[in-house]
Amino acid sequence: MSLFVQKYGGTSVGSVERIEAVADKIAGFKAQGHDLVVAVSAMSGETNRLIGLAQEISSAPTPREMDVLVSTGEQVTIALLCIALHKRGIKARSYTGQQVQILTDSAHMKARIKHIDVDKIRADLSEDTVVVVAGFQGVDEDGNITTLGRGGSDTTGVALAAALKADECQIYTDVDGVYTTDPRVVPEARRLDKITFEEMLEMAGQGSKVLQIRSVEFAGKYQVPLRVLSSFKDGPGTLITLEEESGSMEQVVVSGIAFNRDEAKVTVVGVPDTPGAAAKLLAPIGAANIEVDVIVQNVSADGTTDLTFTVHNNDVEKARSILEGVAIELGAKSIKTDPKVAKVSIVGVGMRSHAGVASTMFNALAKENINIQMITTSEIKIAVIIEERYLELAVRALHTAFGLDDDKISEE
Ligand code: ASP
Ligand code: MG
Repeated sequence: MSLFVQKYGGTSVGSVERIEAVADKIAGFKAQGHDLVVAVSAMSGETNRLIGLAQEISSAPTPREMDVLVSTGEQVTIALLCIALHKRGIKARSYTGQQVQILTDSAHMKARIKHIDVDKIRADLSEDTVVVVAGFQGVDEDGNITTLGRGGSDTTGVALAAALKADECQIYTDVDGVYTTDPRVVPEARRLDKITFEEMLEMAGQGSKVLQIRSVEFAGKYQVPLRVLSSFKDGPGTLITLEEESGSMEQVVVSGIAFNRDEAKVTVVGVPDTPGAAAKLLAPIGAANIEVDVIVQNVSADGTTDLTFTVHNNDVEKARSILEGVAIELGAKSIKTDPKVAKVSIVGVGMRSHAGVASTMFNALAKENINIQMITTSEIKIAVIIEERYLELAVRALHTAFGLDDDKISEE
């Protein structure tokens, strides 16, 4: 008998029929004798609908009222799910974040969880009651309703699992696990049995949108075993775990290929090669809340250097206008931008102990005649910036080069 925290996402509870199907699933786990705490999202589309209503009235609603508004979506789901469980003769109680209580800081729309009171939950569990908690929401010290950012129900699930020291946090969603890469790009992509927290962060950070990144960070920090599964199709899903506990991955060098189409390249040409130049250029970019990803600076030959970095496509014009002033001040020659670039990364903890991974990657790209514009590495990742139109080709070539799309690498 185990204690599971299960999180059901928006599509999994997207209609009354689906809520009933989730209730059936929970009934099955109860029949096996498990204790269950369930966190749910709003029914699919509901959060967007609520945001739309506010926008019809105002282009600048206050964050506090937005939280009061969007938190209602999850409240509907917890009640409906409990009603469905009661119909099946299962004891269940719903709680809003405020009732639990899930205490957060006061940063509306992106609040962080500070503490979860588990007393009520424990008392219910000891009476064999399924506890159903509204995801995505909490309350601050002054009693204001807060929310955790889009996709925040994942974090509610993980935080509950950490606070309760649950045996596993199971995230039920519309995909049946984490894949070696996006199956829409590579049909031969395979579901991974296991992946480490670190790899998952690299995969998610690079645009694999299975879990809210913050929930993975949280799970890693508190060492909560996290499993992603489909609520529509039976299967083991993907376990996200610690490196030591993922022995089967040892022989695998690269676990997955991540990519991001939305990068744009900004180059400041002819920056005087003096201390502080990079700081002067990048500080106002950071101050404008523009996230900078890959940064490369050339070795200078003639006393000047080119500084190139990437930002999100949406930020490229803003970045240019910010830089124009600073660049003139610094005496740089010009600013060039190119929105048509993409990033492809190979990710794997196995890289730590294997040499030659980079050359395998670069050879595979060279064979397809794909030019590498920038390179960046970490201990468990090598990422390259390439021309966007070669993105799919690059991902497929790398997936093959690292043996991800055949059966040679056993997952057993
Ligand atoms: N309902 C919220 C959203 O759509 C939170 C979640 O589903 O995780 O972002
Ligand atoms: Mg989600």
